[in-house]
Amino acid sequence: MKDLVIINGQINTMADGSPFAEAVAVKEGRIIKVGTNEEVRRAMPFGAEVIDARGNSVFPGFFDTHVHFSMTGENLASVQLYDVSSGQELFARMTRAAEKMKPGEWLKGVGYNELEYAPGDFPDLKKLDEVFPSRPVILSRVDEHQLLLNSIALKEMNVCPGDDGAELDEDGELTGIIKDPLNGRVRQIYTKNNLTDSMFRRFYAAASDEALKHGTTTVCCLEGGDLCDEKSADAFLKYQESIPLHTHLYHQTMDVKKVLGEGQKQIGGCILLDGSLGSHTAALTEDYADLKGCRGKLCIEPDVVEDFILEAHLSGLQASMHCIGDLAIEVLLRAYEKALAKYPRADHRHRFEHFTLPTWDQVERARRLGCAMGIQPAYLAGKSMYVERVGEERLDRVNLIKTLMGPGFFAGGGSDAPVTPMNPFIGISEGMMHYNERERITLDEGLRLFTTEAAKLTFEENEKGTVEEGKIGDFAIIDRNIREMDLSDPNVLKEIQFTHTIVEGEIKYAK
Ligand SMILES: [Zn+2]
Ligand SMILES: [Zn+2]
Repeated sequence: MKDLVIINGQINTMADGSPFAEAVAVKEGRIIKVGTNEEVRRAMPFGAEVIDARGNSVFPGFFDTHVHFSMTGENLASVQLYDVSSGQELFARMTRAAEKMKPGEWLKGVGYNELEYAPGDFPDLKKLDEVFPSRPVILSRVDEHQLLLNSIALKEMNVCPGDDGAELDEDGELTGIIKDPLNGRVRQIYTKNNLTDSMFRRFYAAASDEALKHGTTTVCCLEGGDLCDEKSADAFLKYQESIPLHTHLYHQTMDVKKVLGEGQKQIGGCILLDGSLGSHTAALTEDYADLKGCRGKLCIEPDVVEDFILEAHLSGLQASMHCIGDLAIEVLLRAYEKALAKYPRADHRHRFEHFTLPTWDQVERARRLGCAMGIQPAYLAGKSMYVERVGEERLDRVNLIKTLMGPGFFAGGGSDAPVTPMNPFIGISEGMMHYNERERITLDEGLRLFTTEAAKLTFEENEKGTVEEGKIGDFAIIDRNIREMDLSDPNVLKEIQFTHTIVEGEIKYAK
């Protein structure tokens, strides 16, 4: 906690009534004065560090309400396939990385999207085995809901043709493609067998750097459970104090007692009620538009969800689960409705993660309950996939933003990193370009989604989210004046670089 002054800023306070200011002073980590340069100079604590923003924009520190924190760090340490769209390049990168590894050590590539490859160019099991005959290889899809393993990896993971989620070819043989729910089990085993405590510590450091580089000062960290094993949550609790920004652990377990024992106020995150639209595993009430007869399926039985939600609710926790399709949303919504009807609780802010394809009836029921929505507008960039999977008609209710920012809801922006980068301006610009005009947001609504509104998801709207006297001194400063930018193409927001990220008056990142 430090004393700090920012002068000559185009400060976007995000506060009602006085949206702009020139300068701000922080004493012992708290904002003590917001105003003109002159006013702030008079209030300046003795010996305070001074940042001259040179007319550039200053914001309250950004929130990311949905981050797989250790996975983000781990992904930064794996072979990056996000921008690859040819089999040749994929193998070039994988082979280069393998050359630096010990024999038999697992090789992991992350972020592939088979839809970006020419037909037949994305590697299959046979090709993977040809190039890597003796080393286990695991490739993770960009949405984290699908894996491709080579034969050694399949064997080490004990994957059998009968496993729920193991894709088979016409002859009933494994194709190497792994979908939910097996996707979760395989990831868990991978984490258990290959990752150590000290590796997690490195992952948290890498993920923290990534957040701070993008002006993010508060992160909801989703750890534990199917996606990344309990080990990640245990390591998180061990190292949380050393993480240089504000974090909230969303422990992805249904073990309410364990979470209470940890002293948490919230539980859940991406506890998977269903999979993803990309992998045809999101649970829908009607067939996928591009796959007749397929509706995905639920990963957890509804009565198990209801018992869990009731227990979490009665324990005073804020609950949260991953649901994409309208069938999955229905299950969680009913669980919340039942728990709240039996034991009403004001201001529970129980969360839905994603809430990607609700029905209008579900939207209204969630509004009546006063639920919170962890949404990720960066996903809008994948419009063509959504059209394919759900068709034009259902597209009208996919990825709602403006509706969920309306009265009765709490909605906070997030990245779902490592699925999309932890940079608020990606989500903000995508929200401004929403393919559905009705759901399109303005710059200021986008900024609110990642500051004032996001703070409500962690019950911190009185402490964070605006630049106001008495609040915590978290800020992000960028390399330009956002109010002077030509935003006719909102994509230009993605070019913004952060020059300073400040947590409780301390500069944690400077460019
Ligand atoms: Zn999720
Ligand atoms: Zn997630």
